[in-house]
Amino acid sequence: MPEMTPGTALPETPREFGFFVDGKWHKGQEMFDRHSPAHDVPVTRIPRCTTDDLDLAVRAARRAFDDRRWSGLSGGARAAVLLRAAEGLRRRRDEIARWEVLENGKPVAQASGEIDHCIACFETAAGAARLLHGDSFNNLGDGLFGMTLREPIGVVGLITPWNFPFLILCERAPFILASGCTLVVKPAEVTSATTLILADILSEAGIPAGVYNVVTGTGREIGQALTEHVGIDMLSFTGSTAVGRSCVHASANSNLKKLGLELGGKNPIIVFADADLEDAADGAAFGISFNTGQCCVSSSRLIVERPVAEEFERILARKMEKIRVGDPFDPETQIGAITTETQNKTILGYIEKGKAEGAKIVTGGAALKTGHGRFIQPTLFSGVTPSMSIARDEIFGPVLSSFHFDTLEEAIALANDTVYGLSASVWSKNIDQALTVTRRVQAGRFWVNTIMAGGPETPTGGFKQSGWGRETGLLGVEEYTQVKSVHIETGKRSHWITS
Ligand code: NDP
Repeated sequence: MPEMTPGTALPETPREFGFFVDGKWHKGQEMFDRHSPAHDVPVTRIPRCTTDDLDLAVRAARRAFDDRRWSGLSGGARAAVLLRAAEGLRRRRDEIARWEVLENGKPVAQASGEIDHCIACFETAAGAARLLHGDSFNNLGDGLFGMTLREPIGVVGLITPWNFPFLILCERAPFILASGCTLVVKPAEVTSATTLILADILSEAGIPAGVYNVVTGTGREIGQALTEHVGIDMLSFTGSTAVGRSCVHASANSNLKKLGLELGGKNPIIVFADADLEDAADGAAFGISFNTGQCCVSSSRLIVERPVAEEFERILARKMEKIRVGDPFDPETQIGAITTETQNKTILGYIEKGKAEGAKIVTGGAALKTGHGRFIQPTLFSGVTPSMSIARDEIFGPVLSSFHFDTLEEAIALANDTVYGLSASVWSKNIDQALTVTRRVQAGRFWVNTIMAGGPETPTGGFKQSGWGRETGLLGVEEYTQVKSVHIETGKRSHWITS
């Protein structure tokens, strides 16, 4: 563990933000101080908004939608704003990365890389805004012509989590804006800064007032009120399956708003004996440790073919021990701090449960003693059985559970033995084997001989209890539209009333 040398990256006083509604900054009546999870010093001061502030935002978004100041523009005009915003992200890359590090605890090199992905999201969404279109039906006979129009769904509420505050925002917001919808965003309270910085960037890029609004505060108060709000036409939620379920109840009990949900995962990584074991071990170490395992697509269940299982776990443990855990401002750091104290307790609690249930620690298994901040060693458990809690629950930390299999059928059954279906990865040089697993394991995202690869061109989302709907790509824009079927009669009507 390297010395903590945060240097000048820490602010002398917390940066104070307002909340953003109708193109203007508003002062919060009550404020909340966020402390850096790696350094324990206050870094930002964020408004704890009231439900009146939320109403103000929803009204502004509604006006902006209804008067067509955004949805009435051409796709090209919306694309121009999104491309200018992409440039704004490029200009302010270091600033955004710094506040991500300060609030989330992730390494600065990773945060900067994520912003490159966010720029790509804006550029992809800009292209999609230009390409979004309906369809035509020239097959209804000469007297009738049909078409479908794609219309923006209206005012969208967006609730984002703390693990990828800016990345998840940018995998949603530009696509929602591309569709012509207007937005009210509620970021996780502990990581609100970069969602607010985006308000500044979008304003500079020329987005009309009221199109992008941000209301900060707690999930219990503002998040819940947003899910129940009758002024919201669609809600996109990313977070825990428990809160996802409460969004479904809130929608059912209010205005039946459409829901997009990206929820938990307990994602399998299947390694066959014929895989390149060094490559697969590198992928497995990355898949569980990236972002300290606080990733909905973390591959947290290793399913490895028995004849190579022991050797593979040895190679993997050696690699996990080399991961550089430490000060997120050190450019060499690969994994930083655990973002919240609650999450830290949850992860350490699962490590204790794993030991108590009889699984064997191959490497890791403890918090790092640093004097400040919260850091956990990447941890590998072997001898895990399907009924153990570390086999079933989403831990959301750098804790990998290893299972062994003898046959292809057994590997597929183990992979599917979960209520979740977010992502999966298979490692094999045998194309028949790799493709069979890809087709039969239930997951919204799949990687063959790689892991967590891909850009904003392809859609993301889950099977089973991992969620509803898709984000990013063209599908990620279409999700925020509704289809209107239109029929046009040409020529003289054939009359119903004949006498
Ligand atoms: P939550 O689901 O509570 O938080 C996600 C977002 O929802 C945050 O913006 C939060 O606001 C908000 N929220 C909280 N309660 C409500 C509510 N009743 N109505 C509407 N919005 C609400 O996740 P946690 O932060 O509690 O993390 C718990 C677990 O969830 C993790 O251990 C992990 O397993 C999973 N998780 C999964 C994520 C994913 O990407 N799929 C992301 C984050 C967590 P606020 O934080 O301000 O309270």
